[in-house]
Amino acid sequence: LSDKLDKALHVLKGHGSITEVNVAETLKEVRRALLDADVNFKIAKDFTSRVKEKALGQNVLTTLQPGQLMVKIVKDELTQLMGGDAEGLNLSGAPSVILMSGLQGSGKTTFSGKLANYLKTKKSKKPLLVACDVYRPAAIDQLHVVGEQIGVEVFSDRGNSDPVAISQAGVAHAKANGFNVVIIDTAGRLAVDEAMMTEISNIHKAIQPQETLFVVDAMTGQDAVNTAKAFNDILNFDGVVLTKLDGDTRGGAAISIKSVVDKPIKFIGTGEKMEAIDVFYPSRMADRILGMGDVVSLVERAQEQFDEVEARKLQKKIAKNQFGFDDFLKQIQQIKKMGNMKDLMGMIPGAGKMMKDIDIDDDAFKGIEAIIHSMTPKERTNPSIINASRKKRIGNGSGTSVQEVNQLLKQFNQMSKMMKMMQGGGGKKMMQMMKG
Ligand code: GDP
Ligand code: MG
Repeated sequence: LSDKLDKALHVLKGHGSITEVNVAETLKEVRRALLDADVNFKIAKDFTSRVKEKALGQNVLTTLQPGQLMVKIVKDELTQLMGGDAEGLNLSGAPSVILMSGLQGSGKTTFSGKLANYLKTKKSKKPLLVACDVYRPAAIDQLHVVGEQIGVEVFSDRGNSDPVAISQAGVAHAKANGFNVVIIDTAGRLAVDEAMMTEISNIHKAIQPQETLFVVDAMTGQDAVNTAKAFNDILNFDGVVLTKLDGDTRGGAAISIKSVVDKPIKFIGTGEKMEAIDVFYPSRMADRILGMGDVVSLVERAQEQFDEVEARKLQKKIAKNQFGFDDFLKQIQQIKKMGNMKDLMGMIPGAGKMMKDIDIDDDAFKGIEAIIHSMTPKERTNPSIINASRKKRIGNGSGTSVQEVNQLLKQFNQMSKMMKMMQGGGGKKMMQMMKG
């Protein structure tokens, strides 16, 4: 996913300005990338049309750094799609009861341990783990192993086959023994079935937890969405835990689940160890999905540095009176990339008036470029050698008149004078503008 999106956004970065055509092109790529990451088709389509609306609304088309603005819009929208801000747990109860739900193998038991460890070490809570998976003796053992590992007590009752009764006994045990958080680990089946749904629903009704969390394996793609919907229909759960987000797991499930059930993703699991738990931050996930944490920002920095170097070279040349037509040409090309000339000049304090005197409008660039292209390298670096016969040759070569060549030479002289003048504060600003 990262690769594809990066490519799509990279295309934009290459262009100085964005046209409606390459916005559409880019969004097509973004949509394809989302689909590849198992994001539901309708969600991906809605997403791209919202980004498009925002992009056009914010005038990406005329902005100085459209590529970056576009990246920002895509990222913000993605963040929004995943919930905006990080959402914490509701730990208001005495004790606060947290119920785990989800399919078998999704990572409930592992996450129960991780969460207990997190609440104990990071939030100074005294958690109790309750083993309600009564179908496999190994499941109870597993929770006990986890509990020992993290130093958290585990409540279980091997002689009891009623998970509802065990959960209630667990909560009572917590109350009587000063635990302030109870984490109930439950049994899951390999697929959604009625028996499992009835059972989890009965536990839910009996203990009325402050938090019901739905645990889902991020690697299961579209299936994760269907499962989330089934559990939400029954439990109206409070939050989602996305497990197995380590390695190169696609992050698309985060987007799809949030969109379909409209519940916050609260935690992610990133490994088998007890420490492999993270609070879910939508903006970080957006970074991860976009691969922006590393690739995009690297590209941006590289580009900034390149422009910086160019701008500094130019300033040196101006200072040393070495500013020639080649540099002029480069500047024109930069300016053209940035968009409308008058708007641009309006942004430089004091420069607007000066530029009006010099009278360079957008159409004039064509002729100017042709004239410069007809100059020899020597003439470009040292315009003072351009005498009458040279002017005639240049005019002929560029399809312009000697008069026009004269006019450009005059403009060029004014321009280099002005640039030298603006070397101070204004000049710096101008250089910034020129960087595009
Ligand atoms: P449960 O059936 O829902 O209780 O799932 P388990 O907690 O027993 O986890 C099933 C398997 O997934 C186990 O082998 C876990 O070690 C593994 N697992 C759980 N969470 C993660 C995770 O975040 N990353 C990885 N790589 N493995 C995980
Ligand atoms: Mg389990």
